Amino acid sequence: QNLVTSISDTPVPSPTTSDNAPNYLRLRGLSKSFGDTPVFQNIDADIVQGEFVTLLGPSGCGKSTLLRAIAGLTDIDAGEIEVDGEIITRLPPQKRDIGMVFQHYALFPNMSVRDNVAFGLRMRRVAPRSRRERVEETLALVELGDHAHKYPHQLSGGQRQRVALARSLVTRPRILLMDEPLSALDAKIRQHLRDQIREIQQQLALTTLFVTHDQEEALMLSDRIFLMGQGRILQQSDAESLYTRPASAEVAEFVGAYN
Ligand code: ADP
Ligand code: MG
Repeated sequence: QNLVTSISDTPVPSPTTSDNAPNYLRLRGLSKSFGDTPVFQNIDADIVQGEFVTLLGPSGCGKSTLLRAIAGLTDIDAGEIEVDGEIITRLPPQKRDIGMVFQHYALFPNMSVRDNVAFGLRMRRVAPRSRRERVEETLALVELGDHAHKYPHQLSGGQRQRVALARSLVTRPRILLMDEPLSALDAKIRQHLRDQIREIQQQLALTTLFVTHDQEEALMLSDRIFLMGQGRILQQSDAESLYTRPASAEVAEFVGAYN
């Protein structure tokens, strides 16, 4: 457990299950259109510190756009985004202190695993010694300690995605956003990495918003699920309630579609 205490600057937050835990990520009235076409409208949502929330919904419903908006990679038309009491709506991405992992790992092909992971720290001018320590800790966390010297083309898809995860975690972001990080992997690797992501998230008590269109993934991973459809969040609840107490016919139809 040394690893965990050393990677976290702050005390481990209170468990996510406590009822009075403050909201950490707050979305208020977020709206976004491409031209005349609305993607999402008036999104309100809250995530508690250390919570793992899955944004679940069919392809094309606006999940990636919402995630990119939170990360600052796309502008929104209206609304506010707040992290730990700070309004970040107009901050550039690199000032938001938010990590993001994409479906297709965008690693630098000409850099070793170690250098790929160190990149964000170098950008932030972290001193070489602390940089090395932090990189080694983070590689150990994703179980890639033995592969630090390798190049992306020498790794499997699952290993590359773990490098991408390490690269996001190495700066110790306040929030981790993941956009279908498992979708490009085959079933066995997907399941292993899924369990690993949850384990790491719990060890670091990392506030996480995970996007998927896969109901099983959402069920296995999440403290809560935000079900998205038609540019709105149709229901925010724990996985069980989503199935036993769907809030609307639309929700029932979506969760029933696979039964
Ligand atoms: P999801 O991630 O849920 O599949 P997206 O957020 O990628 O959904 O897309 C939501 C809608 O916005 C889709 O109809 C998509 O075609 C459209 N869209 C996404 N990005 C752009 C863009 N840069 N320009 C125009 N339309 C876009
Ligand atoms: Mg998407």
